[in-house]
Amino acid sequence: MLQQTQVKTVIPYFKKFTKKFPTLQSLSKSNEKQILKMWEGLGYYRRARNLFACSKQLIILYGGKLPKTLDEIKKLPGIGDYTGSALLGLVYDQPRIAVDGNVRRVFARNLNKKEAKIDFIKLVNSNSKMLFINKRNADFVEALMEFGALICRPKNPKCFVCCLNKTCKYFKSSKKIITTSKKMFKTKNYDIFCFLNNKKQIALTKKNNLGFLKNFNLPMIKETNKNNIRSWKLLNNYYNSISNLKLNINLYYKFSSKIPAEYNWHSLDDKKEFRPSFTKKYLDKFQIYFNEKKNSNHWCRYSRINSCEFIKKTYRS
Ligand code: SF4
Repeated sequence: MLQQTQVKTVIPYFKKFTKKFPTLQSLSKSNEKQILKMWEGLGYYRRARNLFACSKQLIILYGGKLPKTLDEIKKLPGIGDYTGSALLGLVYDQPRIAVDGNVRRVFARNLNKKEAKIDFIKLVNSNSKMLFINKRNADFVEALMEFGALICRPKNPKCFVCCLNKTCKYFKSSKKIITTSKKMFKTKNYDIFCFLNNKKQIALTKKNNLGFLKNFNLPMIKETNKNNIRSWKLLNNYYNSISNLKLNINLYYKFSSKIPAEYNWHSLDDKKEFRPSFTKKYLDKFQIYFNEKKNSNHWCRYSRINSCEFIKKTYRS
């Protein structure tokens, strides 16, 4: 959950998730729909899918135990060098470091060298005797990450209270390396086309080839092009972001009882269906649209009745 996501965002999800699935066994017996629903709003849904697939493989292939080698552990869904090293360090106290952004920054600052110029694997291996001095490596893995997050912070590191300041080259140097890297966002323009019907339903399909939100039910989404629009009505223009993409979205709609074969109707009011934040955003806009439509219908009907009454009274008397 913590990959690309802040601790304060993760905490309520983590508590709910571990309450529902307290063991690997219980997680493996669940289903993807249920897991995605619990992950709803946290983003990067591939993590949830991988976690579920991973729990199943661990039960079936490893009797519910984590493999003990990096090569084996990396065969599990969604586990690469970083997560593999973190798990082996945390679970089995193996002398490994999970080199995340925080850890990279700590090393880079200690050497006062740009991260791009450091071979972290080589650095850890050649200094292993100095780094892994006892068997409490689980604590060390955790402590190093926390140290980067709380002391050697991206901005305003707490050098004066830092236990490494006597040897840290960044602290001592008058020419310090720049370590704060801004997340680069790429902006892309998309048109979203939604078929609606009077039952307050929206037509969705899994057949969009967008490079993001794969295998999710979505309306028709195309990169913005004037020729797309034709008979569609514009509801809204807004921004949404996914990973490092900033999406400039034009939201279009059309009422129709006929939809292409690969689409299915979904109720706007269905709270049980899993919906990523991206989907929630345009569904909320349609909720508002339908509410306003309903209110204006009420109002029209109300004013029609009142005016009829008025006419009756006026002309009868
Ligand atoms: S002295 Fe400052 S820059 Fe060096 S490790 Fe400590 S907090 Fe980071």
